[in-house]
Order: sequence, then structure tokens, then C-alpha cells
Amino acid sequence: MSAIATDPIPVRALNQVTYCNRLYYLQYVDCVMPTNEHVEGGLFDHRRVDDPDLKNKTRSDRGTATSRGIALSSETLGISGVLDVIEEKNGEQYPVETKHGSAPHDDDGKPTVWDNDAVQLCAQALLMEEAFGKLVPHGFQYHVGSKERVELKFTPELREKTHGAISRCRELSVLDSPPEPLPSELRHRCFGCSLAPVCLPEETLYQIGHPPAVEEEAKPPAGITRVIPQSDDGAVLYVQEPGSSVGKRSEHLIVKKDGKELSRVPMHAVRQMVVVGNVQVSTQALETLAANEIPVSYVTGHGRFIGSFVPAPAKNVSLRESQFKMFGEPAVCLELAKAVVRAKLSNQRTLLMRSLRDDDTRGSKEYGARGLYDLLRTLDRHTSVESVLGVEGQGAALYFAEFGRFLKQPPTGKGFDFTTRNRRPPRDPVNALLSFAYAMLAKDCFSAVCTVGFDPYKGFFHQGRHGKPSLALDLMEEFRPVIADSVVLTLINNESVTKSDFVMWRDACQLTDAGRKTFFAAYEQRKATEITHPVYGYRMSYSRMLEVQARMLASFVRGGIPSYTGFTVR
Ligand code: SF4
Repeated sequence: MSAIATDPIPVRALNQVTYCNRLYYLQYVDCVMPTNEHVEGGLFDHRRVDDPDLKNKTRSDRGTATSRGIALSSETLGISGVLDVIEEKNGEQYPVETKHGSAPHDDDGKPTVWDNDAVQLCAQALLMEEAFGKLVPHGFQYHVGSKERVELKFTPELREKTHGAISRCRELSVLDSPPEPLPSELRHRCFGCSLAPVCLPEETLYQIGHPPAVEEEAKPPAGITRVIPQSDDGAVLYVQEPGSSVGKRSEHLIVKKDGKELSRVPMHAVRQMVVVGNVQVSTQALETLAANEIPVSYVTGHGRFIGSFVPAPAKNVSLRESQFKMFGEPAVCLELAKAVVRAKLSNQRTLLMRSLRDDDTRGSKEYGARGLYDLLRTLDRHTSVESVLGVEGQGAALYFAEFGRFLKQPPTGKGFDFTTRNRRPPRDPVNALLSFAYAMLAKDCFSAVCTVGFDPYKGFFHQGRHGKPSLALDLMEEFRPVIADSVVLTLINNESVTKSDFVMWRDACQLTDAGRKTFFAAYEQRKATEITHPVYGYRMSYSRMLEVQARMLASFVRGGIPSYTGFTVR
């Protein structure tokens, strides 16, 4: 049972629960707090109300006494809140709440108050009645956008509705997973909802209503409306100059070396920082990055992902409880392992056919393509995660046996040759690029699963790898061919990298600083590429796709959708 079941419920939570039960659950039970322009606008409009110099002060003007920022709580009602404004006039006290945006209008064209705002204001009146022992018959809502002050009467119906909202918060707080998204007739509300990128309402409802059948996977449904951003805002800041340091000045990140400023980047323009090799990051910079929810990932110069400094994890305890329970069940692990391996084999086959389509033997008739197709057909027969791992290994052997032919290069010995996949350490430029690309993808999958609230170390497929972020590696499988391998092929086939971008040390091959710089640009470009989601049928960047898949996995783990479908390209 969540702590909120006994703690007083904030009156603004009654607003959320009236708007949408799922919104309340995500915000107050899962403690997810993203922001969007509506939330930020609201905070801006409250700046006078929230001014600490005005809090708990009473001023009088033309017969009206105004008190701001009054904290009230009721054990009987089980609610608490800080009231924007309490006015007192002619011996009558009433609450005044400030709202962002314009007032809605009723059928007669008169300004009115949204249902959810009415419940919040009424809850404030209930708190005042208990605290001051006097009936509060009405209150006001001030709409900043339209500069209208609208009176609201606290009718018996509204009071009953407010008590109902309190009870509903209590009932929702003890659920193990969020309730379903709003039904289609109320879906318009999702467009202004700050939690739409987390909730994924259309996608979740689609999955509930239509458990995916294998033959249906290739046909995206009609009519899913995207309510989440198509791509991520902000850039990824890569810092790799050996001996450099990253500090913070005002709202900027400053990269310096030997006392000289190398670059200066506004914090708001960064959504992730990647530190490669011997680079120092100051405590102040880390603290500010964490406060701005910007993760910092550490990667070695060889391309090994070390770990991430992530903001304090979401307080999503119930997701982690479900994760440990579900990933402890062999049948669930098997189902999920099949889903990600199915997607990986399918994506490998697609990349193979695309890369060899000009070849005389034609893509789909290729030995490798046929082999991958056969593996896909037999996947459902396997009854243990270990045997699915075996299938994945066979697929990798078939795929990498052909990988050298994907490279449009001069004759053997003159360009980039690839004979076999090798690692730890990679021994040639193609393997060095592949290892580096997988390390980058691992850190992005790590970020995605942490953002959602998972424990990145408890996976369903790569289990028992001590100290490895197993779940990040599981999620990564379906994206390896389409993000990592694709970047490597683009860099080589477009001649963006040459042999001078690599250095050999003993038998280890790695990228030079210049080579890494070229790699980072290509990798970010790939992640910004928009593709159509195979199930939901709308476009989004690969970068967003990682998070969407992680969120759908979370939804499956908590019982919100009946199955998880891996990402595939066509
Ligand atoms: S996106 Fe829609 S269904 Fe999801 S929490 Fe927001 S309002 Fe509710």
C-alpha cells in the first residue's frame, strides 16, 4: 500500500483525479513529475502567489483583506493544501485560486470553471470551513490568460463530487498498477496532459484492445493519434578531449583545458552528457545536471560503457516490485526473450536484404536471409530462455558471416575488411566501430530504462551477468541492427571514416579522437532519424522509440497491456 493512502491528499491531487484517474496515479502514486508548457505556464502565473515575501501576510485594500499562501490541513477530511489567496469582505471569507490560461465558457457564453478546477476550489472551501468554523458558500477563480475572475458556488452536488474525489484518491493509491487511460470520448484531454509521454494513452489502449498477432505485426493500425513528442528536445554533449574538465558557470556548462575555454553550452540546450576517457566533471556541474534531470554517461576511449550518473530515480517502487516478481517467472522471461529476439532477427534480416539488394543473388534468397527466416519460424517452439539465447547466437553467426559483404569497399586489404566479429578488445576498424556503437546504444538504453523507473540490473534475457545492466542490454537487442550496425555501415560506405581514424595498440584497435568525433555526429544523426512505429503507425525518432519501448515494457510488467512487442523495421 502506498504512503499516500494515509498521508493527507494535496488538494491539487483532487484536481488531477477529477481530470483523469490515471494522471493522478502516475503523478501521486508513481511520483512521475515531467513538465510541459502548461505546467510551466502555471508556475509562472503563480509567481506572485508563491512569492515567499507575501506568504502568510494579510493586506487590506478598499474593504477587502487578502491573505496569500495559507497552509491548511484536515485530519477528518484527509486533505491538505496551500491556498493561493483567501479574501475577506463584509464578514465573509472565500478562496481565490489563480489558473493559467483562459476561462472556459458555458452554453450562454458566460465564463465558467472547469470541473476539475471546481473540485479543487471546493476542497479549499472545505478546509476553510473546518479551520475557521464558518460556512464558505462561494469562491473565485482568476484566469490569467483571459484576465477573468469567475465566481463558483459550492453547491451540495459539488461538495459531494469533491468528497467522491477524495475517496477515489484513496482507492487508487492502493492499486499495484495504473488504471486504464481515458476512453476515446475523453481523449481530447490527453493533448494538454503533461504526462502523455509517460502514459502513452493511445498505444496502451490499442494494446489492450488488440493483442498483437504475429501476422498482424506488419500492418500498422489506422487511427492512433500521437500525443507524445515526435523527438527529443536538446542535444547530447560529448566531451572527449583528454585532460579537459567540465565546470558550471551560471546556466552554462564550460569545457576547459589548460585554463583555456574550449566550449560553452547553455544547460537548457543539453539533454544528456557523455564523458569519454580522461575528462573531469566538477561536483557543481554534476549537481546542476542532476537537478536539471540531465544524465551523464561515462564511456572509455575503447568504447566500453562504464555507467551513468542519473538523477535520483523515479520513486516508482511498485514498478520495481513488479519487475522483480515478473522477471523471476520463467514463463514471462521466455515470452519477453522471444519478443526481443524475434525483433532482432527480423531487423538483422531486413538490414541484410537491404544491404545486399544490388547483389546478383538478390537479398531474400540469400543464404543468411533464408537462415534468419527459418530461425524466426522456429522461435515459438523453444521452451527455455537458454534455448532462445542459442537461437540468437545462431542468428548472429549467420548475420555476421555476411556483414563483410555489406561494406562497399575496395578490394581486400585496401579498405575496411571484415571477416568475423571480435571484441574485448576489437582487433580491426570494423569491429572497433561495432563495439563503440554498441557501447553508445547500451548507455542510451540504460538511460531509457532508468527514466521509466526500472532497475537496470534486473533483466529477463541477459540474466545473471554480474554487474551488467541486464535490462538495458535486453532492450538494446532489437535496436542493435537498426541503430548501431546501421551507423557503422553509413560511416564506412559513405567514406566518412578512413583508416587514419583508427589506432592499433598491441592487438587492440580503437578510434582516434577525430574518429570518435565523426562517429558521435553520425550516431546522433541516426537517433534523430524518424521512423514509423510498426504497431502504432506514427512517426517518431529512434531516440524517442527507445523510451516508448521501455514504457511499453513497463506497462506489460505491471499488467497494463497483455504482451510486449519488439520494435521492427520493414
Ligand atoms: S495522457 Fe490522457 S489518459 Fe494519460 S494520464 Fe494524461 S489525461 Fe490521463
